[in-house]
Amino acid sequence: MTTIKTSNLGFPRIGLNREWKKALEAYWKGNTDKETFLKELDGLFLSAVKTQLDQNIDIVPVSDFTHYDHVLDTAVSFNWIPERFRSITDPVDTYFAIARGVKDAVSSEMTKWFNTNYHYIVPEYDESLEFRLTRNKQLDDYRRIKEEFGAETKPVIVGPYTFVTLAKGYEESEAKAIQKRLVPLYVQLLKELEAEGVKWVQIDEPALVTASSEDVRSAKELYEGITKELSGLNVLLQTYFDSVDAYEELISYPVQGIGLDFVHDKGRNLEQLKTHGFPKDKVLAAGVIDGRNIWKIDAEERLDAVLDILSHADIEELWIQPSSSLLHVPVAKHPDEHLEKDLLNGLSYATEKLAELGVLKEGLLSGKAAISEQIEQSKAALDTLKAFATGANSDQKEELDQLTEQDFSRPVPFEDRLTLQNDSLGLPLLPTTTIGSFPQSAEVRSARQKWRKKEWTDEQYQAFINAETKRWIDIQEEIGLDVLVHGEFERTDMVEYFGEKLAGFAFTKYAWVQSYGSRCVRPPVIFGDVEFIEPMTVKDTVYAQSLTEKHMKGMLTGPVTILNWSFPRADISRKEIAFQIGLALRKEVKALEDAGIQIIQVDEPALREGLPLKTQDWDEYLTWAAEAFRLTTSSVKNETQIHTHMCYSNFEDIVDTINDLDADVITIEHSRSHGGFLEYLKEHPYVKGLGLGVYDIHSPRVPATEEIYQIIDDALAVCPTDRFWVNPDCGLKTRQQEETVAALKNMVEAAKQARKKQAQLV
Ligand code: GLN
Ligand code: ZN
Repeated sequence: MTTIKTSNLGFPRIGLNREWKKALEAYWKGNTDKETFLKELDGLFLSAVKTQLDQNIDIVPVSDFTHYDHVLDTAVSFNWIPERFRSITDPVDTYFAIARGVKDAVSSEMTKWFNTNYHYIVPEYDESLEFRLTRNKQLDDYRRIKEEFGAETKPVIVGPYTFVTLAKGYEESEAKAIQKRLVPLYVQLLKELEAEGVKWVQIDEPALVTASSEDVRSAKELYEGITKELSGLNVLLQTYFDSVDAYEELISYPVQGIGLDFVHDKGRNLEQLKTHGFPKDKVLAAGVIDGRNIWKIDAEERLDAVLDILSHADIEELWIQPSSSLLHVPVAKHPDEHLEKDLLNGLSYATEKLAELGVLKEGLLSGKAAISEQIEQSKAALDTLKAFATGANSDQKEELDQLTEQDFSRPVPFEDRLTLQNDSLGLPLLPTTTIGSFPQSAEVRSARQKWRKKEWTDEQYQAFINAETKRWIDIQEEIGLDVLVHGEFERTDMVEYFGEKLAGFAFTKYAWVQSYGSRCVRPPVIFGDVEFIEPMTVKDTVYAQSLTEKHMKGMLTGPVTILNWSFPRADISRKEIAFQIGLALRKEVKALEDAGIQIIQVDEPALREGLPLKTQDWDEYLTWAAEAFRLTTSSVKNETQIHTHMCYSNFEDIVDTINDLDADVITIEHSRSHGGFLEYLKEHPYVKGLGLGVYDIHSPRVPATEEIYQIIDDALAVCPTDRFWVNPDCGLKTRQQEETVAALKNMVEAAKQARKKQAQLV
């Protein structure tokens, strides 16, 4: 008989009402003193743990809770303090200085945690680091909960392989040696836990899912070192976000338990388990509930999935748990959430997921019949949700089914289109443009607030938006830009704006998740068939076009970006959702074209971040992502110019996809790539329209004309002149008017000088 326990890997820190965010920000602003702040955070830690204990979770994690970021916690515990912060003496000040920067020292870099929208602080290695355990947070947290609730918990720490993989400042060849140097610190930390009587520790090694077999093999040595001297403390090696290729190697690690993700593994972990079994003397911690999505489980289907796992291996002890930390979902369904009942009832956030684990455990211990009521309820909830999700447009499914190859491609090749577009658009050589948004000033934000609070009527708000649009068209004319934009003043967020106008999206009031530090986001929920209802941007774009003789560029967010920045429904594939969005946007593109707009930009800044973790899965994703884009954009006339925009410079690894989008022009961020991308282009010419960002929009700094000219000149040594565009790196919504105007003037002047030089060359 297998022992069954419920376990959790991590819980949201932010609190049901974002108390965590508020406490941090109040402290940073100086509105609370350190002592009060630390007390508040301690209270939030206790309450996060209490929620899990109240859900009767057998194995509750600690030390996933943090004052900013768990990777930063690990770095600080190991005394990985970058040199520029070492003169700060107070540990709390040091900690937040690394995270947020101080006057004389810039913060450490922040980057995405695997394929999630959580951002961690990148540990900085350098040779001057003195590796030493400065504190044992795991032990402190364990004690705190024991003292407060008398409960046993499972401390969590990032493992050495993952920690070093996520760090920077060393050569690849040094990685193994740095990992080895960390081993004694883990030994010390774990031995202290052992002495305290701690039963289990969870060591997170998500980076093992992307590791080569060779690396999984060599990382085993780290664990031989770490666990060699332990006798009473059990180590759970936890992987998540995907399967581990070197499964056999992994299950032979000298640890007492292995955590595997059976949700985001594409079935591969289960396959491996079927083929190679699972060691009888280890605990299997099976991730069986999606830790990244927000939907209720079908209790019967999930129970069967666990039974299936059990049928393939003789397992003495099984922990059932979420597939990953619940950090990526909201804390709990908020009592004041305003969503429609049928939708709300189909949702399951962190706390509800823990309850679901309890149901599964009951089913495993007492048989399916014992949970028949919960099974019925979950099925009913999902059925209702499904009915609620079905779109009003009964033709849409047919429309999607009837799509043919032609719907995904423009009728003539790029070179032919280029000639036609040049004739019809009449743009100068090296046309100048911007990426879409202009400053969202305090006035713009306050106008929107007034409108949202119904202090302003729709007409008042629209009049304001129109006036701001006009003001910025005049400014653009005066700057001398060639292709203008309307400025996006009506949009707070490039996904929300479209989601609110398309069918199939819901927006929550309280479903926050942490993005980085104290910043939280509420991703839109795609619960149903996404459908076009009515034109979304035509009115504003046409109005803007009416104010100028120059070309007005239409501005849409692309299907892949809308998908990647939302919580997608789980009953159909991401590809299907992307195609639904693509079809809806296709109608918007058509409507813009019919209204006389000749240049349409479809932004895809999030295309790259949707890449699966394993390169073997890239092709599949990139293929349908490009198809969804082309579905959106291919219906236009040859003379209509399609632009796209992405904000990262090195697209080396997805360059085939970029080409596959078949956009007439792509504008990308470039100014921070330090010429590296030009080197790449030298070897691999890009033949379609290209606008390399000529200045960094992340800083208020105004680049000089000569500086921009030089960037253009360097680029033209590599890029074909007749299809090169001049533009900033990204949208300008976070900038001030003054610096924006100054920078763009210099940019236009630089383009003029570059044109002059080109004219002399011929
Ligand atoms: N058109 C958008 C803007 O200018 C693009 C934003 C983005 O790339 N993230 O704001
Ligand atoms: Zn951008």
